[in-house]
Amino acid sequence: MIFNVEQETLPREELEAIQLRRLQNLCERVYANVPHYREQFIKAGVTPADIKSLSDLAKLPFTEKQDLRDNYPFGLFAVPKENIVRLHASSGTTGKATVVGYTQRDVNNWAELMARSFMAAGATRSDFIHNSYGYGLFTGGLGVHYGAERLGATVIPISGGGTKRQVSLMEDFGATVICSTPSYGLVLHEAAQQAGVNLRDLPLRIGIFGAEPWTDEMRNDLQEKMGIDAVNIYGLSEIMGPGVSIECAVAKDGMHIFEDHFLPEIIDPVTGEQLPEGETGELVITTLTKEGIPLIRYRTRDITSLNYTPCKCGRTHVRMNRITGRSDDMLIIRGVNVFPSQIESIILETEGASPHYQIIVKRQGNLDTVEVQVEIDGSLFSDAIKNLQQIEMRIQKTIKEFLGVSTKVRLVEPRSIERSQGKAKRVFDLRNESE
Ligand code: ADP
Ligand code: ZN
Repeated sequence: MIFNVEQETLPREELEAIQLRRLQNLCERVYANVPHYREQFIKAGVTPADIKSLSDLAKLPFTEKQDLRDNYPFGLFAVPKENIVRLHASSGTTGKATVVGYTQRDVNNWAELMARSFMAAGATRSDFIHNSYGYGLFTGGLGVHYGAERLGATVIPISGGGTKRQVSLMEDFGATVICSTPSYGLVLHEAAQQAGVNLRDLPLRIGIFGAEPWTDEMRNDLQEKMGIDAVNIYGLSEIMGPGVSIECAVAKDGMHIFEDHFLPEIIDPVTGEQLPEGETGELVITTLTKEGIPLIRYRTRDITSLNYTPCKCGRTHVRMNRITGRSDDMLIIRGVNVFPSQIESIILETEGASPHYQIIVKRQGNLDTVEVQVEIDGSLFSDAIKNLQQIEMRIQKTIKEFLGVSTKVRLVEPRSIERSQGKAKRVFDLRNESE
């Protein structure tokens, strides 16, 4: 089912006409109201009147996270402060937090896009939505919350943490939809096992996972463990929060970007040039309708590609493929580019390895060394100790074969790697620290 049939199935020509109109209006708004943008436009030698077609987008300046920091806290807001009804701040995965503001209209649009997201995932107003995304300054909790209410479903605002209690409430209330990071999904499953609860026996049927990179192998694992259909949801606080894009349950093949609100591009992260359709690079998003803090060509740092082929579900909005990493997350190991997600895929395809892992990069002398610590699958630990070395060697060999880097793989005891309540931290790059 489609929440907003008219907008989500617009023929491309009509969609582009709407996008252009909104882009022109956006340029006028930021040029008139945000000194930073006026300066940037002047520097780039463009005025709002120069935007005559969507291809003129490339003339506009990029916006980077640093611009939000430089204008901390409210410098990029495009409306008077009294029109802002809510603030959020990003987790600051890579540095100082950034602040975003929403008008009432922004909050309403966000709720609609999250309601669209739920419906794309297969949820309806009859569902019980267990929301484990953190409530508070982060966008996850409230974003999901308002969307669930807009859909008319029942939302359980459990937030993050208190995992044992989460499991018993899932059981008591009969949650049918779980929203969390994929890594927290694993933590929930583990806690359920410890409590003797099989999540597969609960009415749970849909998992909406996002906020961190994950793989198709992880999807299979979560689907199997919970007896659900798991879909990928994407968002970032600078652009709105969760609900920028989501996979439809029909195809589970890339996340539809709500293109009537967001205009995506893929660029070469080094040169900043737009890349041809289908190529992989950095996702750049222009917000078409946001009032509080509209952003022009925001560099997400997330690496993906766009797929414009028609989708089985009937939505016409473009799909973005799984994020393979952030351009600032990419590890360069002895000159080879490696994304943690590539290592994750290999681990999850190895029998006896669990999805809990850490990647530790150090520099010894002039050489980068990588240790991959993987928890052994709990069920295997007692009876297959003699196989441990074989499993280590197998993972090591596969990483070398597919990624071209030598690593040291070490299996560690079940539950020895710290569990996260939100975004998992899996990479520890210690190369800049003294040896
Ligand atoms: P930050 O972590 O940058 O402080 P956010 O909390 O807004 O800010 O997180 C947004 C980032 O989370 C995205 O830019 C992206 O890197 C990551 N992210 C969100 N959803 C997904 C997803 N489904 N897959 C991979 N990465 C995701
Ligand atoms: Zn679809």
